[in-house]
Amino acid sequence: MFSTADLIPLRPFLGSVREAETAKLILFGCPFDGTCSYRPGARFGPAAVREVSDALETYCPVLKADLEEVPFFDAGDLNMPPGDVRGSLDMAYRMAAAVYSNRQIPAAIGGEHLISLPLVRAALESEPDLVIVHFDAHFDLRNQYLGVELSHATVLRRIVDLFKPSRILHVGQRSGVREEFTETELQANFYPATTEPDWISKWIGDRPVYVTVDLDVLDPSIFPGTGTPEPGGVSFTTLQNWIAGLATCRWVGWDVVELSPTYDPTGVSSIVAAKIVRTMVLASLSGCR
Ligand code: MN
Ligand code: MN
Repeated sequence: MFSTADLIPLRPFLGSVREAETAKLILFGCPFDGTCSYRPGARFGPAAVREVSDALETYCPVLKADLEEVPFFDAGDLNMPPGDVRGSLDMAYRMAAAVYSNRQIPAAIGGEHLISLPLVRAALESEPDLVIVHFDAHFDLRNQYLGVELSHATVLRRIVDLFKPSRILHVGQRSGVREEFTETELQANFYPATTEPDWISKWIGDRPVYVTVDLDVLDPSIFPGTGTPEPGGVSFTTLQNWIAGLATCRWVGWDVVELSPTYDPTGVSSIVAAKIVRTMVLASLSGCR
């Protein structure tokens, strides 16, 4: 069982079981925004998602599934030290590795996107054949951002350092430097938001998949609560259907990142994020029902 020494206990996400031992999936928060390039605040994401989760129903009519049918445990937030990028990433890695050693699925709420790097590293050690689906307005494939190699703007580049770009599918990107759009050594699979939704699950096939959702893939009109809003994004319904379409796949881990709740005084962005987390829990555990 993972160590609870590093965790801050909080009111759990809607539908969490009471005992970690009985769960198939361990949800945890990564309240880290140390490298945000424009507006910080993603560290407040996990607490906001939990707080508003009570406003949701446990039942999802799109997946015809209920949170009460799937055993997941919300372990709280990792107590990430502000200002310590490597220490924070290492904490996320150790948490995910401990969850894998217990034959459970780790699932993280960010936090900024850089937290995906240690989570993917742990996932690769558990499932060397995995593929990644990356929902985002941005590719995050820069080699450096302002001279820094570890940044939320470089996270997919650091992941490409770990394995082949052909094993990553980028979905929804609409902003970046020219090379991110054109260099196939960096990104071999790019899926603009306009084509058929079941193409994603067909691309995955029977390979194990890690899914990373940068919520700025959504249009800022429905999701303004994020650090780098990018006009021209997809609707909530489109993103929910993309994720629900992966319910038949074999998930090995996932994260939902880049909610910065304080930029949205209406609070709707937090509810959007919580509903995406609900969809992710249900889709990733659909084999358990
Ligand atoms: Mn982004
Ligand atoms: Mn990103």
